[in-house]
Amino acid sequence: MTADVRPDCAAVLRSISAYLDGELDAARCDDIERHCAVCTDCAAVVAGLRSTIGLCRGAAAASLPDDVRRKAQDSVRALLRSAQG
Ligand SMILES: [Zn+2]
Repeated sequence: MTADVRPDCAAVLRSISAYLDGELDAARCDDIERHCAVCTDCAAVVAGLRSTIGLCRGAAAASLPDDVRRKAQDSVRALLRSAQG
C-alpha cells in the first residue's frame, strides 16, 4: 500500500466512513461517484464496498449487520490513517 493518497481521496474516505455511520447524504454520494470516475484507487475501494455493503445504493448502512458494517468501517479507517500519514 502506497502512502501517497491525495487530499481528495481522504475526503472520499471520510464520506464513506460517514456512510457507514449512517450519516451520508445523497450529495456526498455524488461526490464519491465523481471522484471515483477519475481515481482508480478510490474506485477500487468503493467497488469492493459496494459489493459487500451496497455503498450509496440508497439503503441506510445502519440496516447492515453489525459485523459487516464494523469490518467495512475498520478497513475504511485503516485507509484513512494511511491517507493522513
Ligand atoms: Zn481517490
